[in-house]
Amino acid sequence: MGAADTSRAAEARAAEPSASLNGHAPSAAAIKVLRILEDAGYEAWIVGGWVRDALMDLPDHDIDLTCSAPWQEAERVLGAAGVKVVESGTRFGGITAIADGEQIEVTTYRVDGFYSDGRHPDEVRFASSVEEDLGRRDFTVNAMAWHPERGLLDLYHGADDIRARLIRAVGDPRRRFEEDALRMLRAVRFACRLDFKIEKDTAGALAACAPLLSNVAFERIGHELDDILATGHGGDAMAHCPEVICAAVPELEPCRGFDQRTPYHAYDVYTHVMRVLTVAGELALADACPGERPSRSLMWAAFLHDVGKPETFTVDENGRGHFYGHPAASERIARKVMRRLGLPARLVEESCLLIRYHDTPVKPDRTALLKMLANFSAEGIDTRRLADELMDLKRADALGKAPGCFDFANEIEEMRAQIHDLLDEGAAYSVKTLAIGGSDLIERGIKPGPHVGQLLKRALSATLKGKVPNEREALLAYLRLEAWAPSEGADAPSESA
Ligand code: ATP
Ligand code: MG
Repeated sequence: MGAADTSRAAEARAAEPSASLNGHAPSAAAIKVLRILEDAGYEAWIVGGWVRDALMDLPDHDIDLTCSAPWQEAERVLGAAGVKVVESGTRFGGITAIADGEQIEVTTYRVDGFYSDGRHPDEVRFASSVEEDLGRRDFTVNAMAWHPERGLLDLYHGADDIRARLIRAVGDPRRRFEEDALRMLRAVRFACRLDFKIEKDTAGALAACAPLLSNVAFERIGHELDDILATGHGGDAMAHCPEVICAAVPELEPCRGFDQRTPYHAYDVYTHVMRVLTVAGELALADACPGERPSRSLMWAAFLHDVGKPETFTVDENGRGHFYGHPAASERIARKVMRRLGLPARLVEESCLLIRYHDTPVKPDRTALLKMLANFSAEGIDTRRLADELMDLKRADALGKAPGCFDFANEIEEMRAQIHDLLDEGAAYSVKTLAIGGSDLIERGIKPGPHVGQLLKRALSATLKGKVPNEREALLAYLRLEAWAPSEGADAPSESA
């Protein structure tokens, strides 16, 4: 059979009504790739996330195939059938097939070798059966394979664990975490994402093996943590797996059990942060459209907003605790942590801005709110989103303190409504948001130079105070340019003039 025939045969069979798993049928492209491999005499299965998510009735997951063909052979037969192939992970026996524009990962059956660094297998040993391949996978819910004719292969009772909503390691959990410490953060991530509990022995191994995370590259830790926080359930991770979280971010360790000694706080610093992250996640998920993930800057800010508290702690003569300057200390530590973990510069800066202002008092009054908006007016910052996130963070912070602080949550909603009104009416909160710019002044005879900036600042100051609306003509009239322009070089007109 020629390439075109092979492809046509595989396509024709892919187009036949395919069996489905729990009502979910894999894409025609995935079935086509599977058929091409099997028509060439190999065995192939759909494996991992797609099987798990289909059984959970979640939206369709991208498709991973595992097969008996060595990757070079898989590449050859797929290429011969006209399917484009990218050598994406050949060191570990993986290629990516691109069929009908869809990317399908195809990996050769393998049993991982020994992980002397706790991260990467020293050598990859290929396996002869799908059973062996499933045995090297991390969790029972990820270790199931499915085939349109042969059905579900579930050697480790992953379907039972889905019903029981449990993350359970395949085999001896301690050994599995010792082999690859990153699996610990994967366990936490899947528990948060799927809203599952971690099975008792697996949870015990997580607590015991957490220090092994120090062997894992910072970027990989950052990537997993970011995914954990993006589920909106990072608070659960902090509550149930404190050892893992503190091994991932050792700067949080001093917060654990740290007594704040203040009537404003009913909880130690770590528990407070955990509660704030929980509430921030709930607020973000409540506001999100279906499928949308909570804002990462809000999640990271909530996660690290008080990390500087222990180092700024003082006790006054009445025995009451204070944390003067803790937002600045938290911001400094957060920036260090996030940069170390390789997070994107924009995310670091936005999270740090939220941390810097999380404890700055704001009142529901126009000038105070415009001043607050000015803090978020830097180049490239989405002021409206960040202002909203600051309100979310403040609200979560209040709700995570002590019941006496709960009223503040209502005031925050009042401020949020006012902020939206101010932004909708086009109020100025920075030189950039003024209804006039430097060119308006230059057109009216002002010489380019520092005076232009001075005049714009004067206009901003007047509109912030409510003396003049943020409208072009009103601002220009306020600055009385005609009167001033001829005596160029002189001082700008005074506000009282
Ligand atoms: P998602 O991509 O939605 O996060 P997934 O289940 O597809 O979930 P991947 O990280 O894409 O997860 O990995 C695919 C599969 O490979 C997993 O389902 C699991 O069977 C296996 N796997 C991935 N990483 C590991 C690991 N570190 N140790 C053991 N098995 C792993
Ligand atoms: Mg995947």
